[in-house]
Parts: sequence; C-alpha cells; structure tokens
Amino acid sequence: MAAPNTLPNDLWQMDHDHALHPWTNFGPFEKQGSLVIARGEGCYLWDQGGQRYLDAVGGMWCTNIGLGRKEMAQAIADQAETLAFANYFVDMTNGPAARLAAKLAELAPGDLNRVFFTTGGSTAVDTAVRMVSYYHHARGNPEKTGIVARENSYHGSTYLTQSVGKRNGDRVEEFRYKEDGIWHLTCPNPYRRPAHMTEAQFCDDLVAEFEALIARVGADRIGGFIAEPIQASGGIIIPPEGYLRRMWQVCQRHDILFIADEVVTAFGRIGHWFASLSEFGVQPDIITSAKGLTSGYLPLGAMIFSDRIWDVMAEGGQRWFTSGLTYSGHPVSCAAALKNIEIIEREGLLAHAASVGSYFEDRMAPLADLPLVGNVRGKKLMLCVESVADKHTKALLPDEANESKRISDVAEGMGLLVRPIGHLNVMSPPLILTEPQVDFIAETLEKAIRRVTDDLV
Ligand code: PLP
Repeated sequence: MAAPNTLPNDLWQMDHDHALHPWTNFGPFEKQGSLVIARGEGCYLWDQGGQRYLDAVGGMWCTNIGLGRKEMAQAIADQAETLAFANYFVDMTNGPAARLAAKLAELAPGDLNRVFFTTGGSTAVDTAVRMVSYYHHARGNPEKTGIVARENSYHGSTYLTQSVGKRNGDRVEEFRYKEDGIWHLTCPNPYRRPAHMTEAQFCDDLVAEFEALIARVGADRIGGFIAEPIQASGGIIIPPEGYLRRMWQVCQRHDILFIADEVVTAFGRIGHWFASLSEFGVQPDIITSAKGLTSGYLPLGAMIFSDRIWDVMAEGGQRWFTSGLTYSGHPVSCAAALKNIEIIEREGLLAHAASVGSYFEDRMAPLADLPLVGNVRGKKLMLCVESVADKHTKALLPDEANESKRISDVAEGMGLLVRPIGHLNVMSPPLILTEPQVDFIAETLEKAIRRVTDDLV
C-alpha cells in the first residue's frame, strides 16, 4: 500500500507501531505502513485523506453487495438489540441462525440440507476436514482419514487448513505443516500445462494422477478430496473442461467425500449461489462458504453438508461432533447473512454479476496483448492478469522485479485497488459493479502495466 499521506496521522502511527498485517512484506511496511481506510460505499473506498479508490479487490473477495448499505446496518443493529448472543454449542438456537440454516439448505445443491456455522472460511474448511474423519470412522473405516488437495490451493490459515492448502510462497520454513495423511496433486492450470499437451490430454493426465495416487495409497486411507471450483488466491485457475466432474466421479468410485471449497465462488462471484453444480456439474458432499455469505459486513462461515453424512452421524444416537465454536450460529452475523441474501435476490445480483462479469472478461482480454502480460484469465467477477518476462516461454520475471506490487501501487495512485499475488494482479469486485466502472478498471490497469513495463526496461 501507499506511503502515509501527510495529514496528522495518528491512526497510521498506531497501526504502524502495534499491528501485524501478516501478508505484508515487513521490510517496506516499516517505512510505508498501511493505507488508512476511512469509509466505504458501493464499490468505493475512501482513505482518511479523502482520496477515493475503486476497490476491484472487493475487500478480500467478499464485499459482494457493496459497502455502506443502510438496510444492512439496520438489520445488524436491530438484531444486536434484540439478541446479541446465544449459546449454539448445545441444543439451543436462535431465529436468525435457524432461518439461515433453512435458507442455505434451500439454495445449496442436491441433498446438502445440513449446516454447521463457523466464524469464517478457515474454520469451515477445518471442520469439513474433520467431518471426513468422523464420517468414515462412524461407518467403520477408521483409517480412511487422508485428504487429497491440489498444489497452489488456499483453504485458510489455521494450522490444519494451511497444511491442506499449498500455495506457492506460503510454505515458509518457520511453520512445519502437517504432511502425514495429506497429498497434493498437480495444479490444474491450463496456462502452465506441459507444452506438448493439449488441454484435453492435460485433463486426462490430472485424472490419471488422482487414480494412481489412490492405487498407491489405498482407497481405505483416503477419505476426502478438497477443491476450490476455481482456485482463487492460487491464481484464478479455471481447470480444464470436464476436470472437476471427472475428479468427482473418481471420488464416487472410491467412496471419497468431495469437499467444494466455495469460500470465494459462492454467493454470486461467478453468477451462481454455488458454482459446483451450476457451473461445473459436480454435486459435492460438503460445501464450505464464508465471505460473500455476509458480503463482509460481519464474520461468518458455513459448512453445508449432505443428508447422507447427517444420517451416518445421527445413526445410533449416542454421539457428539466435538468441534464447536463460541460464535457458531451468531445471531447478529446470521441476521446480516439473511439480509445480504435478501438483497442479492431482490436486486437480481446473480444475473447482474453474470452479465457485467461477461463484459469484464471482454474488456480485460485485450490486456493480454501488452508485452508484459502472459495471460489474462478468470470467469465473470474473478479475473487476474499474469505478468511474464517472455510470452513465448512463459518464463516469469525475477522476484526482485516485484512487478505486480509495482503495478498495484501505480494503479492505487490512480484510484484503483487491485491485489498483487506473486506475479499476478487479481480482481474480485463487488457484484454491483457497473460497465463504466469496468471501463475504468480496464483503462487504469492498462496504464499502470504500461508504466511499470517502461520502468522495467
Ligand atoms: N478457502 C478459500 C478458497 C479462501 O479463498 C479463503 C480465504 O481467502 C479461505 C478458505 C479462508 O477463509 P477465511 O479467511 O475467512 O478464514
């Protein structure tokens, strides 16, 4: 983020002296500190100096309905006054949590009719991974606890979810992640597939790799497969045609639960409530969600799971799922989620996201002609631009070039926020984005890329 503005800047100083921003390079942070955001409305943020930014990052893939909605604030305030908290660990519930569970069961595909509320995406995935063990154990397969994930996936920041995910650059040596019982398959990135393969051959290879792993390890030791339908912070990776469906079919053949991590893709990001079935033809056993569930107004996550799993859990009576969170089913967060879903429905934001998302794809595609850009990819309101040193070999620039951070810094100076991740600039704007705002994003990002390209030579 930018250097501090020159106003008397107590907030900047307090943050600088006391706060930890984990995915910030601590060296530059010492000098620059944080951009202090004071206000948000719609797709825009304002810093405390009054500078406006179009937030094409959507907060953190999450401000789906846009910021500053008075009816959201009112729903939250009303619920805080009526009932701010009630225990959800035990056999006690509250109106918003009960209504939201029923609503999610209505929106989720197939027989995903059961919901466990969490505090966010990491805790939803963490719980889903433990659900895999629980389920197979209850069915008399105590060794069927292993999890298969993919390279370059991100599933959260708890110790377990960081172990399951495996994004490049996150595997710092300070943390010794759990490796036992977790396997990572090749990232299904068509852009980075072996040069001699067609996309269809690449897909065959990826599916064969999964089959080979199961043959080697044994289906009796693998309980779950987890996949973001579109790998988000690993680089907006849309897998080859048919890949997810075929991986799901492999799971079905070997009694492996399919967990769709839809923390990013759900609630409209690519035009659907949930992407797994609607976009990719997969009926998961478990969906994890968060972010767009409340559009970031309050923290909340949900693990939505099948009647089939519930029936196994409930069978025989005397059992507990000993995994609870104090803020599970939080009435105020659930009230925010209900109002958020009501707004998405009332304003037709799924259809809007699909149409403005197509326009976004069309307007961003020509950026691929810029000398620095190797690939522009994504779907609807999840797009990224990948920088390369050589378009033909797809070789990356050296890390020291730091080009994606420089591009985002230049864009920020022009009133646009995009997120640098590795050699990518990533965007996930609110669903309410308009076509003129898309034009602004495309034009500003192009200028920023051109300026950084000129500085590199
Ligand atoms: N899963 C995916 C796909 C994510 O992108 C994220 C966060 O970005 C998470 C899980 C973790 O969610 P949270 O940060 O709410 O814990």
